[in-house]
Amino acid sequence: MVQLKNKEYEGKVTPSCYIHALEAFLKCMFPELEIERFAFNLPDNVAGRCAYEEKWIGLNEPSAKGALMALAHEGGHYWSSRRYPDKDFEEDFERSWREHLAYAYGWRLICLIGAKGTTVSKDDWRKTHDADK
Ligand SMILES: [Zn+2]
Repeated sequence: MVQLKNKEYEGKVTPSCYIHALEAFLKCMFPELEIERFAFNLPDNVAGRCAYEEKWIGLNEPSAKGALMALAHEGGHYWSSRRYPDKDFEEDFERSWREHLAYAYGWRLICLIGAKGTTVSKDDWRKTHDADK
């Protein structure tokens, strides 16, 4: 019998565990939100996307840690947009401001699900913001 086990991760909490937690958390906060983990319609160089009007988040990231951070970032976009329900988020806010909000709210999501620290460090998170500029 073949066992698909990786000794390195045995008994440890991995980024995959946190993806489940974050997905459940976002679905609890925003039941209307649709999350597509394997959004094949996204370009190869796009890790994730949030469509505010369509209430949709798509991920396009092969690594579990990358997917976790992409979901937190896109979740940050969605969460921050819900804080301003009377605004057209894409029309009324500059892209740089929307990215700043996604960075701040996304980090809050990472902290709330308990992934802050060994799974996603502040340095890891900072790099996602730098790459977005
Ligand atoms: Zn973004």
